[in-house]
Amino acid sequence: MIPVSDLVVKLHERAVRSVALQFPAGLARQAPQVAAALRDAGFFVVVSGDPCYGACDLALDTLLHADVLVHFGHAPVEDRPDVIYEPVRFDFDVNALEAALPLLRTRRIGLVTTVQHVHLLSAMAAYLRERGIEAVVAPGDGRTPLVGQVLGCNFAAARATGADEILFVGTGVFHPIGIQLATRSRVVALDPYTRKAQEVDADRLVRRRAAVMAKAEGAESFGIIVSTKSGQQRMGLARRLVALSDRAVLVMMREVSPGELLDLGFAAYVNTACPRLAYDDQARFPVPVLTPPEFEILCGARSWDDYTIDEYLAA
Ligand code: SF4
Repeated sequence: MIPVSDLVVKLHERAVRSVALQFPAGLARQAPQVAAALRDAGFFVVVSGDPCYGACDLALDTLLHADVLVHFGHAPVEDRPDVIYEPVRFDFDVNALEAALPLLRTRRIGLVTTVQHVHLLSAMAAYLRERGIEAVVAPGDGRTPLVGQVLGCNFAAARATGADEILFVGTGVFHPIGIQLATRSRVVALDPYTRKAQEVDADRLVRRRAAVMAKAEGAESFGIIVSTKSGQQRMGLARRLVALSDRAVLVMMREVSPGELLDLGFAAYVNTACPRLAYDDQARFPVPVLTPPEFEILCGARSWDDYTIDEYLAA
């Protein structure tokens, strides 16, 4: 179970009496135990039952019924005095890096990971140093406050390494593909649990996205989606996109779901909410959903050679 003793101290220091709790999908099953432990410690507890994928989506409606919101699993993407962020650490044996060694071509690499493993970065860098490889770990921007941390929407810490080769340690291929598109560096991805390493290739994703763009070309209407979620709202960007086409209209929504997009009736959409939606969920969407850089290309405001991943950078 997520340990709560330090959290209880923090809550007492703030002299709060009621606590709202928010868990991302992978940790939600721990809600009953964590809630019971805090209730036994004397706090009134309310749990947010809505789905949550990042610290960009704080349960502010649940917070209305408590003194403070405790958000588990993520580092802050926005600073609020009434929110306590409790990132959760996942350990692995750094000897897992052995699997990546044969794929590395240079002696100076960038090293990045996701929030769950950031605490292991110095041990990973030491492992690589002992094998003659200098690992550069760099700070990102305000949206990724932990040094060496990347998000699915922010690769600033990878870019800041300035390295021609980057090692991403974590699960899944979305982050390393995003890093490759954002940095144009060679990227090796290591899953520290399966101990499988691979060089990533963004070409397949780019080809898939080109097909979506081709479908959107000539669409009679574009809905420019703006999120109402606290850390996903990019109104400035959305307004700039609307100005690119007289077929575009702003659409504000909380959940970007296939049914809602269908009901609204636009021929195509441009997503300025969580950048991953367009990449991960296109197969579920009834019409093309473009990223902002893709819409810029379609409107002639960006060249195809300048194709890049959609990032949500700190203001
Ligand atoms: Fe994660 Fe998307 Fe939120 Fe970025 S916007 S933190 S990728 S859920």
